[in-house]
Amino acid sequence: MTHSLHVSDSHLKESPKPGSIEPRIIKRSGHNVSRNDISSAALKVLYRLHKSGYQAFLVGGGVRDAMLELHPKDFDIATNATPEEVRSLFSNCRLIGRRFRLAHVRFGREIIEVATFRAAANHKDDDSAHDIEGRILRDNVYGEIDEDVWRRDFTCNALYFNIADFSIWDYVGGFKDIKRKRIVFIGDPVQRVREDPVRMLRAVRFAGKLNFTIEDSAVKAIREHTALLTNVPAARLFDEFLKLFQSGFAELTFDLLKEYNLFGKLFPATEEELSNDASFLKFIRAALQNTDKRVATGKSVTPMFLLGVFLWMPIKRLAEARCLEEKISESQAISIAAYEIVSQQQRRISIPKRFSVPMREMLALQPRFRVLRGKRAMNFLEHRRFRAAYDFMLLQSKVGQADKTLAKFWTDVQTQTEDERTLSFQMRSKQGQGKNDGQRRRQRRRRRSLQST
Ligand code: ATP
Ligand code: MG
Repeated sequence: MTHSLHVSDSHLKESPKPGSIEPRIIKRSGHNVSRNDISSAALKVLYRLHKSGYQAFLVGGGVRDAMLELHPKDFDIATNATPEEVRSLFSNCRLIGRRFRLAHVRFGREIIEVATFRAAANHKDDDSAHDIEGRILRDNVYGEIDEDVWRRDFTCNALYFNIADFSIWDYVGGFKDIKRKRIVFIGDPVQRVREDPVRMLRAVRFAGKLNFTIEDSAVKAIREHTALLTNVPAARLFDEFLKLFQSGFAELTFDLLKEYNLFGKLFPATEEELSNDASFLKFIRAALQNTDKRVATGKSVTPMFLLGVFLWMPIKRLAEARCLEEKISESQAISIAAYEIVSQQQRRISIPKRFSVPMREMLALQPRFRVLRGKRAMNFLEHRRFRAAYDFMLLQSKVGQADKTLAKFWTDVQTQTEDERTLSFQMRSKQGQGKNDGQRRRQRRRRRSLQST
């Protein structure tokens, strides 16, 4: 073992000693988790570990989702083999992580994560493994399955499917809680939230995704500790943001985050604008519904779009102020404001440049939809961010925040032939908006000729 034995979860002080609790074992005939629910890659790993004499369990979301007939896609395996032992069994295996090593076994594009059972080495007081708020800083000791179970977050995530006989091992009542559709913390909710505040977001995420109810004591713990989220590293929250909003339950998850006062901890500027402006909520909701629809139909989703939606009002407001201060174009002002608002947002959720840069472009392009004439307007169609900017504008028009006739114009021109397009963009300059336009041009010409005389 390459890792120093160190203290981990303090809740283990109250948890049963290893070996002191027997799991409830639900035989294959007593549950509905079938090998058909498990990917062939995950099965290969489970079988090879088992045949080599190790314990091998499918654990976590894979078992939970299979029980709920949700067709799991992500499979985590737990074993008593050390990472090095796992690696020696698979040629397609890499060890990752420094603090706690995990084995990643690759089959084409699918990666199966294999974790060695983890536990606290001793149960004596040692606060050095926790920060002032009780957050876990180290968690790096190998153990047995009956120790591994106590470090997991919720009972529904702590079922172990044993490949040896297809039974499920349940130490914490997860089987019953899944049937009752309840999110229940393992151990003391307050302590578990303090150890890792991200668990509050996970509770909400699972409640949304699984349509479960969060148990009362968990609700209480969450309500009292929302502020702890601000201690979580921003990089970790980006991953969590993706899971919260790109898993197909974005709208429901958003409502739950609002309900538990967590949304504002993730997006403070958005939260503030939401309280000022009811139409912003409508826009956000439309975007969330749209995202969910795309996920449901297997279409791709990019985080930059939703981030752009969340940050739009704060950016717009700041851009308006900047426009008053200095002589810049609306588009420049949006770009500058986006830069500022994004850097504020980074303190909570770090947004990788590959998303923040296109997001800024998408937003700064919005004023260009109001220009309907001329070559530059027509060339906008070829802009590499046109599609995203267009989707953004369309969504705004759907909730009454962008002109519907503009939206129709930009929808129509996309399917026109080159000739029709030339006409669309130039017709406007000739006949465009009808008489008034022509009159204005005639007046201008007259004025010009007057000046020249
Ligand atoms: P999904 O894959 O749908 O996000 P999951 O339950 O598999 O759900 P993962 O993030 O893949 O979630 O984690 C796998 C398992 O690891 C979980 O089921 C849980 O047992 C444990 N786990 C993950 N994150 C935490 C955490 N922050 N605290 C405690 N246990 C955790
Ligand atoms: Mg998982």
